[in-house]
Amino acid sequence: MLFRCKNCGGNIVYSPEKKAMCCPHCESIDSEEKMATPQITEETKVTCASCGAPIDITEHTSATKCPNCGNYVVLDERVSGKFLPHLIIPFKIGKQDAKELLKKEFSNRPFTPAGFLSNASLDKMEGSYVPFFMYDYHSDMNYQATGTKVRTWVSGSYRYTETSYFDITRQMYADFEKVPVDASIAMDDGLMDLIEPYNYKELEQHQDKYMSGFLAEKYNMGERELTPRAVTKVMKDSKAMMEATVTGYATVTNVHENINPIKKAVDYALLPVWEYIYSYQGKEYKYHVNGQTGKVLGVTPVAKGKVVAYGVTVFVLTMLAGFLIRGMLL
Ligand SMILES: [Zn+2]
Ligand SMILES: [Zn+2]
Repeated sequence: MLFRCKNCGGNIVYSPEKKAMCCPHCESIDSEEKMATPQITEETKVTCASCGAPIDITEHTSATKCPNCGNYVVLDERVSGKFLPHLIIPFKIGKQDAKELLKKEFSNRPFTPAGFLSNASLDKMEGSYVPFFMYDYHSDMNYQATGTKVRTWVSGSYRYTETSYFDITRQMYADFEKVPVDASIAMDDGLMDLIEPYNYKELEQHQDKYMSGFLAEKYNMGERELTPRAVTKVMKDSKAMMEATVTGYATVTNVHENINPIKKAVDYALLPVWEYIYSYQGKEYKYHVNGQTGKVLGVTPVAKGKVVAYGVTVFVLTMLAGFLIRGMLL
């Protein structure tokens, strides 16, 4: 589909600044009409619905820009049926803001090549929606171990050491909401981890109009194929949560852990990223701006802080049964 202006016939795009469909040619708001889908003629070609020029696509492209007329085209058959996204975070950061954020981040860096922050280069920046699956999990956890606490004191010519042994038992459950796993092969997993967190509270019901003005991919891998990655995240966080409740012991041994994650729901979602590719001395450098939060990523190393961005509620049942062995040392 292509969104055309009823007033002037121009291509209408979604404006993050105005939070509305906006015609860049006559500045009218919400005057769009949907034009018919372009046909995917071959796996790697589609015909522009506006000017009829061929557009190169990949097997995963779901929205793109015509190199001939510059109109943004959404490929109907890749945003419908099994490819219909359930949820989307619409772009909140517009192109102008994304440019300013990059300038702010990099203008003071030494050795920045001259053209790097020029408007002509920055204008080539495009916003993309990256496909994600969002998993809801219920996790049941059991933990058993033996803990010790040690106390020493001196009385007369004796030094006493008291070691107390505890049976540590934990029964917990946690409900994980919207654990994100990116479903794009082209988008580097490490990069997506760095560009997070997104504020998932702002996920909305998907609407096609949010895609106009941006590039996008449909999911490259299926939800089942990506399930192990969600399970790994849930297991890791469950384990950490459980172990965080076991504190204050000198030693913890005989640990028996059991974590049982149960999948409750899966949503298919699109998340916004600005991408700026700069070619310098025959090499391509990629820069990214989170399209919701404005977080900037470039070649400069960024600390990979652990952020649990998705919602989680935890229930802990703690049972303590202690018994005592008193020892004495001369
Ligand atoms: Zn117009
Ligand atoms: Zn065109």
